[in-house]
Amino acid sequence: MQAETLFISDLHLCAARPETTRRFLSFLAGRAQDAERLYILGDLFDAYIGDDDQSSPNREVKSALGRLVDSGTSVFFQHGNRDFLAEEGLCRETGVGLLGDYAVIDLYGEPALITHGDLLCTDDVLYQKARIRVRANEWKRNALSKPLFIRQWYARWYRFKSGLDKGKKSRMIMDANPQAVIESIQRHGVSILIHGHTHRPAVHELDVGGKPARRFVLAEWKETGQALCWREGGTWMIENIL
Ligand code: MN
Repeated sequence: MQAETLFISDLHLCAARPETTRRFLSFLAGRAQDAERLYILGDLFDAYIGDDDQSSPNREVKSALGRLVDSGTSVFFQHGNRDFLAEEGLCRETGVGLLGDYAVIDLYGEPALITHGDLLCTDDVLYQKARIRVRANEWKRNALSKPLFIRQWYARWYRFKSGLDKGKKSRMIMDANPQAVIESIQRHGVSILIHGHTHRPAVHELDVGGKPARRFVLAEWKETGQALCWREGGTWMIENIL
């Protein structure tokens, strides 16, 4: 059988969406086991307040990730804007590898750049400012030092506030900036970019300084799940995960 690599993002798993959790657990126990590698490009969890949070569905999801890794599929994770507090504890517990915000991976001889996608949304200046603040080690250490119940309370408040803010921002501002896309491709010397975050699934054909490039935007898991499947030899397809 040909080796294959799967990419998913933006599952936004939480107690309020049991159907998505069920779908993901069955994906991990089934479809994902055929793959050589699985890349999760962020926002796996809708809110992640620390590796010590073992509430549902985090606990089940972490055990299932561990079982997939044990079965022989390598799993890699990048932070999204919702789960950037995932740290070594998650890796130790599951065997999942944590990648940086931008990672160049080898897709059977072709380099590909993967990232969550929020860094590409440079028009959202307020978000980018807040991002720098909360990604600082000092902020993270301070947040994680709070008792779990305080973090849970804060996460609920944050989710409410984020819903309000989203309504006020234009669709344009919350999309990837075309220049930031081109620059990220050039800076990393690739012709494949894969990201999520914007919830606007598409395959964009680009011209980067006269060279063709392709940008894959992964879908959010909602009524159905979606994965990008890349096969050895360079063929790829978008798969629906039911
Ligand atoms: Mn996101």
